[in-house]
Amino acid sequence: MHASDWSAPTAQRLTLARRLRDAGVASETVLSALIRIPRERFVDEALWSRAYEDTALPIGHGQTISQPFIVARMIESVLPPRGRFKRVLEVGTGCGYQAAVLSQLADEVYSIERIKPLYERARANLRPLRLANVRLAYGDGYAGLPAAAPFDAIVVAAAAPQIPEELKQQLTRGGKIIVPVGRDDQQLLLLERRVAGFIEKRLELVRFVPMLPGLVPA
Ligand code: SAH
Repeated sequence: MHASDWSAPTAQRLTLARRLRDAGVASETVLSALIRIPRERFVDEALWSRAYEDTALPIGHGQTISQPFIVARMIESVLPPRGRFKRVLEVGTGCGYQAAVLSQLADEVYSIERIKPLYERARANLRPLRLANVRLAYGDGYAGLPAAAPFDAIVVAAAAPQIPEELKQQLTRGGKIIVPVGRDDQQLLLLERRVAGFIEKRLELVRFVPMLPGLVPA
């Protein structure tokens, strides 16, 4: 399939982008990536009519596709000043939507998922888009992907009790990681790696599914 078949921004996608801009997303680079991705392809047919609402939606296995506003906010908070990632890691592939958005902004995207059927679903969702720069892994995101590290950014799409140490160690100098931290009440924490350590910033309150250890094979 030719990219132009799916990546041309539709009226619904432009409306969503306008809403996200009004809600506080400042990066036009991120918004232009978001409007290239057909979000309806990442949810069941029964939810197609809701695909461009700014809400999380169920994707099975007790998981959700993230709210577009949060996807945009998280990506813009770690986007390098030049507006493009060299190598970015996503933890929590889910249906693959955010990985697809990241693919428009990165040379290489890696994404890990611990639930095998979701990993397979994401693979199937992404296949027709032919995004040659996305690599999916079935694994536990608490370990990161040491073989592909270092990353200039890491986006964690599930809530952890604290920022996992292994992931911090897989950042480049100047690299950034964003993680929803907490149990019921979660806050987005942004860390930037510097030569001498890390600088932390606190962003908005959010609600994510938990980041759990171990694998779910079926
Ligand atoms: N990124 C998705 C949202 C996925 S929801 C999107 O684009 O909409 C969060 C995902 O994180 C779930 O699929 C869940 O199974 C996964 N997850 C939770 N803990 C994990 C872990 N330790 N390693 C990898 N994935 C994990």
